[in-house]
Amino acid sequence: MAPDLMRRIREAAVARIAAHADELTALDQAIGDGDHGINMKRGFEAIAAVAAELDALPAGPALQKAGMTLVMKIGGASGPLYGSLLMAMGKAMPGDPGSREVLAASLAEGVAAVKKRGKSEAGEKTMLDVLVPVLDAVAAGTGDPLASARQAARDGLHATKDMKATKGRASFLGERSIGHLDPGARSSALLVEAVCDVLEDKV
Ligand code: ADP
Ligand code: MG
Repeated sequence: MAPDLMRRIREAAVARIAAHADELTALDQAIGDGDHGINMKRGFEAIAAVAAELDALPAGPALQKAGMTLVMKIGGASGPLYGSLLMAMGKAMPGDPGSREVLAASLAEGVAAVKKRGKSEAGEKTMLDVLVPVLDAVAAGTGDPLASARQAARDGLHATKDMKATKGRASFLGERSIGHLDPGARSSALLVEAVCDVLEDKV
């Protein structure tokens, strides 16, 4: 693995979230309280602020520290959820994240941590509707894992539109949550794209 891979993934994620913060906020205005873009931007800016410390760490501990930073800096539901994702992924990452198997095992732990923290499953119109199919695509090990992950993220995101939210603030809307994309599913899809861009050497 290139030694600067984690740094490039981090920078791509920070940039992608910043570029789409208004879009995330607009999605959250429709079915939540309109703070998802602000929450994510604040969280990823806080990660950027500790970049030098993260760069000095191996991949696993760096992911764990990034997760802790999100937990501390994001006020909304998404902070503890994305924080749990990264902390569990980091804990499960022995040294080099450069293989599909390691990535799949680490993502499996991360997704399990989100489910546990959120008491949620795929199908409830949340970030899990992107994260679970992406994990399945990476774990399947058939075809091009990055292309499959991108496709799974796109399909998972779009599937949230017709779902009724049963977790998070959007669940307060009941049937009225139907017809809108889930903001957390969109931020997850953005992060998957950012990671894939770097792993495919496009940024
Ligand atoms: P808040 O809902 O506290 O305002 P955000 O707006 O930052 O927090 O994040 C909302 C997103 O968090 C939702 O769009 C959804 O994807 C995700 N989310 C909320 N609750 C859960 C949960 N229990 N499990 C998984 N994801 C959740
Ligand atoms: Mg919100």
